[in-house]
Amino acid sequence: MTVTRFAPSPNGPLHLGHAFSAIVAHDRAIRDQGEFLLRIEDIDGARSRPELAAEFREDLDWLRLSYREVAPQSSRVGDYRTAANELRAMGILYPCTCTRAEVAAAAVAHGPDGPLYPGTCLRRGPTPGPQVAWRLDMEQATLLAGELEWTDERHGVQIATPEIFGDVILWRKDAPASYHLAVTLDDATDGVTHVTRGMDLFRATHIHRLLQHLLGLPVPVWHHHPLLVEADGRKLAKRRDAPALADRRRAGEDGRAVAAEVRATLFDTGISLSDAIDQCP
Ligand code: GLU
Ligand code: ZN
Repeated sequence: MTVTRFAPSPNGPLHLGHAFSAIVAHDRAIRDQGEFLLRIEDIDGARSRPELAAEFREDLDWLRLSYREVAPQSSRVGDYRTAANELRAMGILYPCTCTRAEVAAAAVAHGPDGPLYPGTCLRRGPTPGPQVAWRLDMEQATLLAGELEWTDERHGVQIATPEIFGDVILWRKDAPASYHLAVTLDDATDGVTHVTRGMDLFRATHIHRLLQHLLGLPVPVWHHHPLLVEADGRKLAKRRDAPALADRRRAGEDGRAVAAEVRATLFDTGISLSDAIDQCP
């Protein structure tokens, strides 16, 4: 059975870009008589606003997207720890005490998410303590995994190139698991068969595919949809002054009509409009 999910982080209200993402996931599941899941990604303690989760549910109801909600990330930290320990036992995680500024200062190359970690702590071998992050030894991990592929429904078969990210952090100092570890485990636990999300996360999939291999997890298909943008090219989801779905809902707008409008724009016109970009930012 086709299972998709919408996985918002409760650190700000949902906007039209999120509605689009949810509709893509919902409709993809419905097309196959599958199931659409809602998962609240609330492990970023500092930025998380738990009260927003209730708003998200109401927003989806307002858009007439029916969903089954699965466990929020905050309740799954034990699973993340188990997986991190498994990777540690394989000898491919190492502790890192560097600050962001130290990494930036020592970096000699840049990856998709910023400065590439120069491997300082891999060579130094610091003593693990509470103020330690755990990084994936990308060279060892990719050696172990060999060549991996993954498939995107819209973009075809991809060769995984997780090395473009360098030694990513999988366990954070200030929060439990990193996004990469958490989302990979959750999608497996929740039985997600089609990971639908925006093109902004396209390259992150290289890391997720590697983690699936290392942890022996099932491999889904991905569906990276274009991002809705404003005429001036700004991402809709990130535009601060765009009205939140919750505001439009409370102002009495008809959510069914909003959803219909999103579907009409994006599906009838073949997503070719200037309002959508389809490349990695
Ligand atoms: N929680 C992530 C976000 O709100 C989405 C993660 C995903 O879809 O993989 O951007
Ligand atoms: Zn370090």
